[in-house]
Amino acid sequence: MSRKPVIAGNWKMNLTHLEGIQLVQNLAYHLDSTDFDKADVAVIPPFTSLRSIQTLIEGDRLDLTLGAQSCHHETSGAYTGEISPTMLSALGCSWVIAGHSERRTLFGETDEVVNAKVKAIIAAEMTPILCVGETLEQREAGEAEAVIRGQVTGSLAGVSAEQVADLVIAYEPIWAIGTGRTALPSDADGGCATVRATVAELHGTETAEAVRIQYGGSVKPGNVAELMSQPNIDGALVGGASLNADDFAVIARFH
Ligand code: PGA
Repeated sequence: MSRKPVIAGNWKMNLTHLEGIQLVQNLAYHLDSTDFDKADVAVIPPFTSLRSIQTLIEGDRLDLTLGAQSCHHETSGAYTGEISPTMLSALGCSWVIAGHSERRTLFGETDEVVNAKVKAIIAAEMTPILCVGETLEQREAGEAEAVIRGQVTGSLAGVSAEQVADLVIAYEPIWAIGTGRTALPSDADGGCATVRATVAELHGTETAEAVRIQYGGSVKPGNVAELMSQPNIDGALVGGASLNADDFAVIARFH
């Protein structure tokens, strides 16, 4: 089964909407239709930039896709400061990240919360990018595989095989995020293989063969080709290097 790679740039809490517009214009200059035939390429800016970037993408008919970094699981209501999946969908978002390790660690998101978000994102007809991954401590204690399995299982409770086949899961070892310390390609592939094996146990091999699994953690122009050549890696979730149009364009082409 051939899986179309997904290269997504998670800007995190960086760039004003003006800076964001500039970055997307530069990206559009660097990428052409052959790049988009080869991979789905997404920018995932802060909420405040979504509307301007949506306008840019639609106005210039760019093939870039748009995503959001998080959302609330309810459609609307008294949740001051929150953003719902319905709002994101109305802004042309195709993707929403659920369970990024920074959300899990800094904002206390449990697998249960992440699971509710995954379901809400699917209900609003967008694709979740579900993030999982172990800490350095867990890896050194030999617990990485169990942690990954537990997060995948918990975050996907009650999600059907068909829905799982369509989503994107990002394996992001926490010790490799923003540290410059990339996992060895074999370790990165091993983590993605564990994700795939867990999906196979939950929903069968057909679903596991269909689901797209990204690696994330210090992906840069110099390491993307080798990472992307691994059998279980179907894309990259890129943080720091997605803030530079030249670097992100090279990553989006991954060769
Ligand atoms: P990084 O971030 O590329 O800066 O390591 C990756 C991520 O957090 O998704």
